[in-house]
Amino acid sequence: MNLYPLFANLRGKRVLVVGGGHVAERKVAALRKTGADIQVGAPRISRQLALWVASGSIGHHRAEFADDWLQGAWLVVAATADRALNRRIAAAGERCRVFVNVVDDAELSSFHVPAVVDRSPLLIAISTAGAAPLLARLLRERIESLLDASLGPLAALAARYRQRIRARFPDLTRRRAFLETLFGGKVAAELRRDRPLAAERALEAALAEVTMPNPRGSVVLVGAGPGDAGLLTLHGLRALQQADVILHDRLVSTPILELARRDALFIEVGKQGGGAQTPQDRIHALMLEHANAGRRVVRLKGGDPFVFGRGGEELEFLRAHAIDFEVVPGITAAIGCAAYAGIPLTHREHAQSLRLLTAHCRESIDTLDWRMLAAPGQTLAVYMGVGELPRIQRNLIENGRAPETPIALIENGSRPDQRVVRATLGDLASSARQHRLQSPTLLIVGEVAALADQLNWFGPQPLTIPVDKAHVLRAA
Ligand code: SAH
Repeated sequence: MNLYPLFANLRGKRVLVVGGGHVAERKVAALRKTGADIQVGAPRISRQLALWVASGSIGHHRAEFADDWLQGAWLVVAATADRALNRRIAAAGERCRVFVNVVDDAELSSFHVPAVVDRSPLLIAISTAGAAPLLARLLRERIESLLDASLGPLAALAARYRQRIRARFPDLTRRRAFLETLFGGKVAAELRRDRPLAAERALEAALAEVTMPNPRGSVVLVGAGPGDAGLLTLHGLRALQQADVILHDRLVSTPILELARRDALFIEVGKQGGGAQTPQDRIHALMLEHANAGRRVVRLKGGDPFVFGRGGEELEFLRAHAIDFEVVPGITAAIGCAAYAGIPLTHREHAQSLRLLTAHCRESIDTLDWRMLAAPGQTLAVYMGVGELPRIQRNLIENGRAPETPIALIENGSRPDQRVVRATLGDLASSARQHRLQSPTLLIVGEVAALADQLNWFGPQPLTIPVDKAHVLRAA
């Protein structure tokens, strides 16, 4: 079946919907948006349909179907549960040359109703010619999540300014370049934030510029989450799909990079776990170079950009160089790893507060207030600590946290190779050593860590060390 796609203008045109149940109601609801002159036909109709009839917004044949209902109709929708009746309606349509859609019956239908993504005036219609309606629906959901709600207002704004843009840029190539910067740049960004007036001002400003505005580059700081690509936000996904250049940390997992625009330029910066880092200056220089060249740069970071991610420094740098930026938060390792290990970070019985800290190196450890950190009734989430576990263990115990306090070490949290090690504070360093934990690993200290033993749901059961071995290792 080779269908011919079209978008029909039904304003003021008669459309007949046969049937009075929920399916008919759904069809009427969709048709009402078009301003069609809708007539339902059925002996009995649903409450909602009756309300619309009562308010005068649709008409009603209160009877069994009759062929003459088709007179004057441009389209017919057969939404009855009676197959023989649907067949009769389809045949009547054939005779009068009126297009008929029989709901959920591709064979009987002379027109199909696609699955629709509505960003009016922008409309995306999807059809599988009845072969796989479910697939069309799934596809619709995907596209739905990819397209920002601001696209509709953007298209409407472009339509309103069409004449002026045309007058300002009579040359098609230049006009196209202008529209591209419009759709990718500040105007779109303002609409995403639901600031239509600011968007219009930005458009006016762009039109008023004497020279063709240089495409302005920008940087979006995106948090990629701990690894599972499903934890990326919709904003993050969109930014990745619009990016010209992606500067990403090593910590960002491959499945996430695969969601990005294929022909973007990927540059890996930074190294995990103490290895040689790309100097921060170099990252700054790269962002500046590409943004100044008019490109859309995504700076993609593991977890959240503002949690031990130096996102603040990068924004200060961009601000100083007058580069536009946006920030898309991500799920930070503490939140992601805890969820995937089955550890509620707070719990009415065990922990009323949560602290995120980093134990990157001796210097950062020495500046921490260990007395405060050793207080009971709180959960600690320690980032970048694998190399410093003995020191963390000693400091906490020396400052009064009980050696029996449960801990969990989560390696590669939310990734297919996630491992969770469960032990006590007194066995912290030795159990990490025994299981040869590597970076990235997150440490959780506090009573809640023990809940992983029951609530673990992702990946293998938590690892522990055999009790006898624990003594040996502790003595060592
Ligand atoms: N901005 C990041 C943190 C960067 S620091 C965030 O918000 O998560 C890097 C440290 O984060 C690692 O050394 C490790 O302690 C932790 N980390 C990040 N991803 C992790 C993961 N998938 N599993 C375990 N720890 C992780």
